[in-house]
Amino acid sequence: MTMETKKEVRVRFAPSPTGMLHAGNMRTAVFNWIFAAKHKGKFILRIEDTDTERSTGEYANEILESLRWLGLGWDEGPHYQSRRTEIYTRIADPMLTRGKLYPCFCSDAQLEEDRKAAEKRGRPPVYVGRCANLNPAERKERMKREPYALRFRITGDTLTYTDAIRGVTTVNLRLMGDFIVMRSNGTVTYNLAATIDDILMKVTHVIRGEDHMSNTPKQILMMRTLGFAPPVYAHLPILLADDNTKLSKRHHHSSFAELIADGYLPEAVFNFLALLGWHPEDKREDLTAEEIIRNFDLKKVSTRASHYNLQKLGWLNKQKIHHAEPERLQAYGKRFIKKHAAAFDALSGQAKLTILSAVHENISRLSELDGELAPFFEYSIEEGAIGEAQKHPARAVADAMAAQTDNDDYRAVMQAASAQSGAKGKALYLPARVALSGRTHGPELEKLYRFLSPAERAARLKHFLEMVTA
Ligand code: GLU
Repeated sequence: MTMETKKEVRVRFAPSPTGMLHAGNMRTAVFNWIFAAKHKGKFILRIEDTDTERSTGEYANEILESLRWLGLGWDEGPHYQSRRTEIYTRIADPMLTRGKLYPCFCSDAQLEEDRKAAEKRGRPPVYVGRCANLNPAERKERMKREPYALRFRITGDTLTYTDAIRGVTTVNLRLMGDFIVMRSNGTVTYNLAATIDDILMKVTHVIRGEDHMSNTPKQILMMRTLGFAPPVYAHLPILLADDNTKLSKRHHHSSFAELIADGYLPEAVFNFLALLGWHPEDKREDLTAEEIIRNFDLKKVSTRASHYNLQKLGWLNKQKIHHAEPERLQAYGKRFIKKHAAAFDALSGQAKLTILSAVHENISRLSELDGELAPFFEYSIEEGAIGEAQKHPARAVADAMAAQTDNDDYRAVMQAASAQSGAKGKALYLPARVALSGRTHGPELEKLYRFLSPAERAARLKHFLEMVTA
């Protein structure tokens, strides 16, 4: 037997609080969390708020709340990068002494001109290296007088690493150019802060969106310069919206806040996000978190763009609503009952559960609850419903029911109505449904019938009979 100490898996979710959390971020969080759960590792939360102009505390709080909502607890953090500047400067400093970083005095205007000139000549917009090889005396002198940024000096032609999803990846360093790690105002850039934190937080796997692939070589180069072995990188495929363009803020339901407000259950959103780039071998889609964790394999994540298919989310949500415990549906669904909130609140606990169970199979989002529950609290006949009812012996059915409104035994009432009218199946139930609920589709009829008082049943049937012409 070999003695092998397995290294603890440590992943991080590192969002920038510069806007509303969107689906791409959420998917990254979910994949990291699943990976940590799968390997019994640690899920670290790091708030990358070094861009002080665009980051806000509100956005940071929204991130924490969204993670909690989704059930993604974190083991360490949140670490706020804005509070760690001193650490970054201390660790970066030796790189300056060794010449791996150098001060760059170029003005924004100069850099902009360089960029335009490169564009004109069809060259990549990389830094021209104007300040890369200044003589030490000049450099020292100018550092005293002029503002400067710090750039990382790239050496070598190519860099190769193994992406856990994409395999061996080689990058042409000549297309990259020395990059800024500290701005002239003293703030550190994302690449420096992320690299140092990934080292200090002992991150073993960096799982993030494909849009970060251009940062990976920079981070690997810095890690090596600082004397550390880089973590494993895994880049998740991009997300496409229904119109086949890259999913962005302007797409419907791409922000977390929207999903919450529209009544998707956390378990449906979690399930949906886990399927953006991965699926279990048997291709089943309605999965519990346990099933996802058990079957998940980073190596099986696709490199192909993944579709953010809202129809699938709706379908998954319908399944989850269907399977949800009635108590949970009540606790979570309550906030979506607005128009009928007062009437709903006044009901007994049992009555609440009953009416929710009467509609839960008809909805795919909790925001539909108000509308679906309406027949319990109000009566109006929707357009076209009378016409539909009259395709059947509507008057005979309603007359028979009207004679028995005091009877709470719904089945007995319907049997009597059937015997009296000769109607069966749809011919019996459709008129009964329209008469009691005003709709051709709606809550489970038995539950509605039993919920309504005899007086209310009578009033509805009377109204229905007045409308029926045949
Ligand atoms: N802060 C970056 C973002 O929000 C994440 C960077 C990373 O995962 O390395 O996109």
